[in-house]
Amino acid sequence: MTKYSEFEFRTQQWFDPAWFERSNFQGFGHFIPMKTIVVHCFDPRASEIPKAVADYFEDEVYPGENILNEDGYRVGHTRTLFAVSNAGGRALSALQSVTTMDYLFQVQKVVVVHHSFCGATAFAPDTLIGDFHDHHHADIAAMFDHDSLAITHFEESIRHDVALLRASPAVPKNIKLYGFFYEINSGKLTEVVKDIPA
Ligand SMILES: [Zn+2]
Repeated sequence: MTKYSEFEFRTQQWFDPAWFERSNFQGFGHFIPMKTIVVHCFDPRASEIPKAVADYFEDEVYPGENILNEDGYRVGHTRTLFAVSNAGGRALSALQSVTTMDYLFQVQKVVVVHHSFCGATAFAPDTLIGDFHDHHHADIAAMFDHDSLAITHFEESIRHDVALLRASPAVPKNIKLYGFFYEINSGKLTEVVKDIPA
């Protein structure tokens, strides 16, 4: 046992080590019925996006509530929609989360939402890279997909991110993809693109 290892699933008495074999692991869907991932910007003015998306689809639960066992332990949750937030709400930064959540829960939908007056519309990719180099003397030019660094055109950024998800081997081909624009003042959510596998 190492520090904090008592809090790991793998050290619990009931935990079956065979779960580490892919064929035996049934996932955590029985405890939390997660089916949808929403990728959005962490701008606090856009924090209502997950709820807006849940309302749009009507069959989602958000925020939901904890499910407690008789000892008061949090053994589950009723939420079906999980949110991933990052700068701009970009798909590239969310890829690892999609892959992990698909393993743990089996993802059905991934929804990308970009929002009005996003900070990512205030600069161009090369400006960010050049400024970072000037201030921190580090060259990050080759580290990121330039089209994912800034938002230069909303419809293009939303379509770009849905296409990036569809093209990525990290996103299972059965997942339904959606791209939305969210207006932060009215709270209006507009569907820009969807990619539903046949
Ligand atoms: Zn933003």
